[in-house]
Amino acid sequence: MESIQARYARQKVLKEIGPAGQQMLAGATAVIVGLGALGSNSANLLARAGVGRLRLVDRDFVDWTNLQRQSLFEEQDAAQRLPKAEAAARYLKRINSQIRYEPVTDDVNPGNIERLIVGATAVVDGLDNFYTRALLNEACVKHGIPWVYGACLATYGSAATIIPGVSACLNCLLPNLGEATTPPLSCETVGVLGPIAALVAAWQSSEAIKIMVGSKDAVSNHLVHVEMWHNDFSTLPMTRVANCSVCGQHNFELLEHGSRLATASLCGRDAVQIVPPPSFNVDFDLLRQTLGRLFPLEQNPYLIKFHVDNHDVVVFHDGRAMIFGTSDPKEALSLYGKYVGG
Ligand SMILES: [Zn+2]
Repeated sequence: MESIQARYARQKVLKEIGPAGQQMLAGATAVIVGLGALGSNSANLLARAGVGRLRLVDRDFVDWTNLQRQSLFEEQDAAQRLPKAEAAARYLKRINSQIRYEPVTDDVNPGNIERLIVGATAVVDGLDNFYTRALLNEACVKHGIPWVYGACLATYGSAATIIPGVSACLNCLLPNLGEATTPPLSCETVGVLGPIAALVAAWQSSEAIKIMVGSKDAVSNHLVHVEMWHNDFSTLPMTRVANCSVCGQHNFELLEHGSRLATASLCGRDAVQIVPPPSFNVDFDLLRQTLGRLFPLEQNPYLIKFHVDNHDVVVFHDGRAMIFGTSDPKEALSLYGKYVGG
């Protein structure tokens, strides 16, 4: 019987990787932040490739709507509402039992992000919102950790590789993302085609593998954009901005200002209140229109109310929200992130 190590034969024979590259992968740590469609596809590829340690971070539970595109999850996981990080680790262990998995079920925020990425050789972005990506950008630039941005929605997606101190950072490409008005556009509200997520994740994983085998020169210096329904592929050169507040001036505003969304359990009410800071601009009319297409809304000039996943959600004009039917801040933040933003 062939040794279990024969699993990497087709990868080691690649001149770009070789036995030495395989050894480097075995010694590497990849942190996958977010285990939706992007993160689960990336985790699958990186576990099979033999990355020595995989830290899998997600705040959410597996839901039936995930199964269409999130390749690590099965019907059982949705039926049991397993945390995604735990379900992912369980599945991946059956694919590759030789690597170390570190599942983390937590909301990624300024208070924990530096701890979550510590020791990473590369970080892969599987996030679903731009505030947390901007935060991840700051943390990775601060600690000099390469990371691979990826995003997808509907039928389009994009990716870019950020090597701190060498390439442009996300803030050079898309400044002030963390403060941007959050439009209520998410895969919950406009949908996402499974293959676009798989394609973006494949690109991200390939870039992460290059970084982990020490071939940073081989990574793309372009922002890649793909529109899958209309067959459009384009690239944009990534130009470093000398006075970029993040990679130029090392001004880590989001990291230093603490959590953007404050939560409080409402005593005796089985509800959590979420309070965004004044800089969080909610376009209330756009939110009302978008959510109105998905749910029957109860509304008055001050608030809207809708029902989703056994929860009543009330959103006020300033973005403050009350999520009923839970006292768990993580569950409330997850719902808020999907339907309001953040
Ligand atoms: Zn920058």
